[in-house]
Amino acid sequence: MLDTPKTTAPVLILLGPPGAGKGTQARMLEEKFGFVQLSTGDLLRAAVAARTDAGQAAKAVMEAGQLVSDEIVIAILRDRLADNDCAGGVILDGFPRTAVQAQALDALLAETGQKINAALSLEVDDAAMVTRISGRYTCAGCGEGYHDTFKQPKTANTCDGCGGTDMKRRTDDNAETVASRLQAYHAQTAPLIAYYESKGALQGIEAMGDITAIAEKLNTIVQTAVA
Ligand code: AMP
Repeated sequence: MLDTPKTTAPVLILLGPPGAGKGTQARMLEEKFGFVQLSTGDLLRAAVAARTDAGQAAKAVMEAGQLVSDEIVIAILRDRLADNDCAGGVILDGFPRTAVQAQALDALLAETGQKINAALSLEVDDAAMVTRISGRYTCAGCGEGYHDTFKQPKTANTCDGCGGTDMKRRTDDNAETVASRLQAYHAQTAPLIAYYESKGALQGIEAMGDITAIAEKLNTIVQTAVA
């Protein structure tokens, strides 16, 4: 039997409640460092749209703002991590979200001799998250993110990046579902902060301010973590 090839490709984790800016910051890190943003939320939404078995099982759970089963999410993540474009490094956005997922990730990375370079914890006020999430939307063409209050495109309904006019809002971005998502975060995901701290991988970042200023702080941390 052949050995699994070893790699030192960087692995970064973005932790934080819904609305903390994980997706926005992951996209900026992807652009700056060339690592691939790997969002289990995006992968699950694609599975729902494609009506795969996993997608059919996940749909109602996502709409209720609860966590999809570890089994489904770990399988989706494992498949995506094996794709060639992940060989240069990844930024995990929204995974792991439970202790079982964190342990499964450690085991997966051990198979290829990889390790977590840093778990970046975005520290925000819960109270502001409902407003942040309720107003957000993205360009269907290129995925650029906007917000009714905080970041409008220069021309209404037209993407600054690609000029597209098809803007979409997530069905789970409403006040009711956000409350469940925040609850799930505190009950199941927040304990991972201590888990990564005990491994010496945790980096906390105050993340309530300006997006560019937060990105600069992250760039500095990531530069050191992957050196
Ligand atoms: P997100 O796009 O990261 O906000 O995720 C949207 C929804 O997908 C979540 O509210 C969960 O229902 C589901 N989801 C995404 N990632 C995970 C995960 N790692 N574990 C369980 N459920 C997840």
